[in-house]
Formats: sequence, structure tokens, C-alpha cells
Amino acid sequence: MNLRLADIPGQRFECRGCTTCCRDLVVHLTRRDIDAIDGQNWTGRIDGPAYVRLGRETVLNHRADGGCVFLSPDGKCRIHSEYGAEAKPLACRLYPFTLEPESGALQVGIRFDCPTVARNDGAHLTSHRPALTTLARAMSDAMPEHFVGPRTPTLLAPGRPASDRELDDIVKRVDRLLAAEHVPLPIRLRRLCTLTDTLGQARLGTIRDERLVELLDLLMDDAEADNHADLDPADGRQRKLLRQHAFAHMEHITLAQARASFIASLSYRWGQFQRSRQIANAVDGSAAHADAMTPANSTAESGRFVTRYLRARVLTYSTFGSAYYGWSVLDGLRSLILAVATVGWLARYRAASAGRDSFDDKDILHAVGVVDRAAGRAAELGAKSARLRVGYLQREHGLLRLLAAYPIMADQRP
Ligand code: SF4
Repeated sequence: MNLRLADIPGQRFECRGCTTCCRDLVVHLTRRDIDAIDGQNWTGRIDGPAYVRLGRETVLNHRADGGCVFLSPDGKCRIHSEYGAEAKPLACRLYPFTLEPESGALQVGIRFDCPTVARNDGAHLTSHRPALTTLARAMSDAMPEHFVGPRTPTLLAPGRPASDRELDDIVKRVDRLLAAEHVPLPIRLRRLCTLTDTLGQARLGTIRDERLVELLDLLMDDAEADNHADLDPADGRQRKLLRQHAFAHMEHITLAQARASFIASLSYRWGQFQRSRQIANAVDGSAAHADAMTPANSTAESGRFVTRYLRARVLTYSTFGSAYYGWSVLDGLRSLILAVATVGWLARYRAASAGRDSFDDKDILHAVGVVDRAAGRAAELGAKSARLRVGYLQREHGLLRLLAAYPIMADQRP
């Protein structure tokens, strides 16, 4: 399968060895990874077993301090130091990239929970193509079930499969809409909302290929004209759903918590349920403070950063289909719009938790990392309840009203 490395304008990456991924990620191992680690003979040389069971999977073990068992005190990977980069598990070699078969190609995605990706630091992405090509081959050999054979078709809307060409046409147009940086981001998002709403009302079962492209172009023109209608403020129910959605991103389960005994895991889940209620109902002091926080010290840099993130999600086909819980294009795009309001709220929550009265670019940077760590990966966000939440918020301009309630910069209203 052809490797498609999208040109995300200006996006760069070079691993700076911050070790965030060595502490935060649960690394799933393939049979080949396990055999390679066994062949390296780590018994007695590391702090505990090299890998452990997690449900039906085998994952790299972590120490009690949360770091990977192979992370040395000077922040280096011991497998890398002693046996070379190619001896590391495939998931470690791939991060912060992702590989998903979509639209007739192997799409390369990139994760913004890596601080270096978010900061846009390092070499242009094209310089990673040779390594990614080698990795793609190794991964499809190790996990053929994920990369070859029949796939569930990606849907344009529930019940309406999309052809590869239709997906490419939609991605191109949505990216064009997001790329128009002379238009304020909230207006671009408003246009995207209008586009998804109108497309959702069309009889897509009978509109295909060329006709779909014509409809898309027509809707793009209509969406551009929709700048000025007034919006009611977000109501209490919409805000509560947004806080619930934000909470689903916040709880990052460690390997130790994931492997806890039944009783310990029950107690963790009970605590999680309590925290979720406190945040959703804004009973938690920081949540209440975040909800009321209006002043922003964030700058135009946050707008450019969030635009880069959104374009990366769209251009890498990571907002729908196999990379996003099998969701349809329209549901995935709505969830992408909701992600921006979630970033706005999480930035406020981070500032409020630190006792500050306003948020800034660093809070936005952090919030995008939190959102991207969970997007397409956290089970709660792919559950039926999450899809119902997005569907509910799509009505009565709920998504736009939430963007207006939690803007990422001052004086930015959709
Ligand atoms: S989080 Fe990113 S920069 Fe830090 S060690 Fe991992 S890949 Fe490298």
C-alpha cells in the first residue's frame, strides 16, 4: 500500500528526547517485539519484567515511578543505547507518527501530545519518509490483520459509504476552508459547521462522485456567506455536555491503574465517576472558575497553532474512519469542531487549577496535547454516548455556541 505523508504546511519534528512518551504511553507489543526483547536477555538487568499482560495484550512494563522499565536515569532508552534504534518495539519507533490504512493508502498521522510536534521543532516531515517506509513494511509484516485484507468502508454519513475519491475531495475542500488564515478561526469553524449541517441534510444516497463535488463547491460558497447570524449564548445543558466531554480527555490511566486488581480498579472507577460528576456539574472549584473565565492572554500564535493542529487532523485523515472509531466523515468533522471548544475549556481549567485568572498560549498548547492524546484513542470518546453527545450539540448551533463560550483567544466569536 502506498505511504501517504501529507504535506502539513510548515509542520516539523525531530525527537528531542524529552521522555514524555516513555512515561505517558502504554506500548503494545507485537509477537516480533516480544521475541526481540527476549533475545536481548534483560533478566536481572532491569527493574522487573520487561513486559506484562494487559487484558489480551502484552505491553512494555513500567516502573513504580511511571517510567518505562527501559528508561535509564539519564533519560535514554536502554534498548536503543545497547542494541540500536531498530531493536526497539515498533510502536516506540513509530511514535509520534501513526499509520492507518485509509482512502487506498497508508496514511501517516502525527500526534500533538508529543511536545516537539506541538512546538513544531526539528526537520521537515518529508525527511522522515525513508524511516516511515521501512517501519510501514515492518508493521504490516508484524500485524498483517491491521494493514491488509478487506476493510470496513469509511462512511460519509451514517449508512452512506464514501468512495476513496469522495474522501479525497472532502479532505481537500475542508483543508482549503481551514487554511484561509486571513479569516478568523471562529468564522472558519462556523463555515465548517454550516458545511457539515447542510451536507447532513442532503440526500447523500443519490448524490455521488462528480455530483457530490459540485454540491460541496456550492456549499463552500454558501458557507462563506454565513458570517453574521447572531447566536444565543451556550445554555447550561450544552456547557455541562462540554465539561463531560473535556473530562473524558483529562483522565489519563497509567499502566499500574490499568492493571490494578478488581477491587482497586473498582475503587479507581468510583473515584473517576465522582470526579466526572464534579467537573460536569462545575462543583469542582477549578471547573467553576474555568467556566467563568473570560480574559485571555493568548495571542494570534494560538490561532495559528490550533489551525495547524486542525489541518494536520484533516490532511492525515485522522478525524474519521479507521483513525477515529470508525465514525463517519460528518460525525468526525463535528467532533473536530467540538475539540476546539474543548481546548478552550481545558486551557481555562489548567489556568484555574494553577490559581490564575486568565489563560495563555502555553495553556492552549497543553490543552491541544491533552485533546490529541485522547482523540481516536480513549475508549470513552468512541462510545455511543460520545456520538450522541456530538449529535445533540450539533443541534441548535450547540457547537458554535460552545466555541463562543470558550474561545481560544480574546474577542473571537464565531
Ligand atoms: S515525546 Fe516526542 S520529543 Fe519527547 S521523547 Fe517522545 S518522541 Fe521524542
